[in-house]
Amino acid sequence: MAITKVWLDESENECTMCGACEAVCDSVFEVPEKMAVRKNADLSQEDGIKEAAEGCPVGVIAYAVDGGSARAN
Ligand code: SF4
Repeated sequence: MAITKVWLDESENECTMCGACEAVCDSVFEVPEKMAVRKNADLSQEDGIKEAAEGCPVGVIAYAVDGGSARAN
């Protein structure tokens, strides 16, 4: 089950720019203002992406797994 896409989903909450996702997985996430997925994000970092999504205090990190989508909280 490979992660194929990661994005900021602010349909319910807004990114608070806390920086936690970058601290957990800086090969994928950066927080210049609101969270951004790096242009050359290494989506093979599945554990880091999932950990960042689960650890995001407002649950705005979404990712797709083999075409489906999931959000941790
Ligand atoms: S952990 Fe969540 S709220 Fe914090 S910067 Fe990342 S996306 Fe934004």
